[in-house]
Order: sequence, then C-alpha cells, then structure tokens
Amino acid sequence: MNNRTFTIIKPDSVENGNVGKIIAHLEGEGFRIVAGRMTRLSTDQARAFYAVHSKRPFYNDLVAYMTSGPVWVMSLERDNAVPHLRKTMGATNPAEADQGTVRALYGESIERNAIHGSDSDENAAIENAFFFAASELI
Ligand code: GDP
Repeated sequence: MNNRTFTIIKPDSVENGNVGKIIAHLEGEGFRIVAGRMTRLSTDQARAFYAVHSKRPFYNDLVAYMTSGPVWVMSLERDNAVPHLRKTMGATNPAEADQGTVRALYGESIERNAIHGSDSDENAAIENAFFFAASELI
C-alpha cells in the first residue's frame, strides 16, 4: 500500500470554489483517484483525526476550522504517493510554500492552508481507513 496516500481538500478550498482546480492539479501530478467524496466532519471526527496535535495550542482552533464547512476527502494512488503529495502541497504555511504548490496557489494562512496530506505510509493507511471502507479502496 505504499503507493497510496490520503488527502482532505479543506473547508477554505470548498468555500472558495477551488475543489475542481485542486483535483485537476493532483491529477496533473499523476495521482489516480481511488475513492473520494464530499463530507462534513463532526467535532468528534476532527478531534480524533488530529489527536496527534491535541496538546498543541492551535488544536481547538484547528478542530473548529475543520468542522466549519464541508470538505472533500480522497484516497490517491501514485508512485511515491506520500512524499509526492507533500511536495505537491507545499509547506504548512502558504507564505513559505514553493511557488506553484497547492498551498501557495490556494492557501490563505497557516491554518486555512487548502489541503491535508498524510505524512507517512502508516498514517496514509490509518487515514484512508478512517474515511473509506476496505471495499472502496480498490
Ligand atoms: P501539515 O502536515 O503540513 O498539514 O501540518 P501539521 O500536521 O503540523 O498541522 C496540521 C494542521 O494544523 C495544518 O495543516 C494547519 O491547518 C494547522 N496548523 C499547523 N500549525 C499551525 C499553527 O501554528 N497555527 C494554527 N492556527 N494552525 C496550525
């Protein structure tokens, strides 16, 4: 499964009408969409998804932002999926993201930064299973 990763096109991107452009950007980078849908995270889901950040000062704000509107979740496939998606996304802070990356193009701030991508193969498997049934991940 190390050719798989997971992404969330975040609430700011949905709000700003950038979902289609971001999906096209990812397809242009050679990602195949394995599964995808629009959803809205509950507070419990957002807290669980970002549990690793629960001690960080921005945790409550992050949970509030991620539940503020619908998101688009996707399972993606490509060679070197995890590192390639991270490179395609750009740095966490859009102001520091390389030119042409999704966050440089569409992110608004270090919090409202357009897109999430798994940071390891292990987390990609966990995050894909968080949103999709095994039968969807074919
Ligand atoms: P990522 O892997 O690049 O998404 O970054 P992290 O895992 O470090 O952080 C998770 C998410 O928390 C980021 O994508 C941002 O939406 C948010 N975030 C990270 N750092 C900060 C911060 O310093 N302040 C605020 N408000 N949000 C942050």
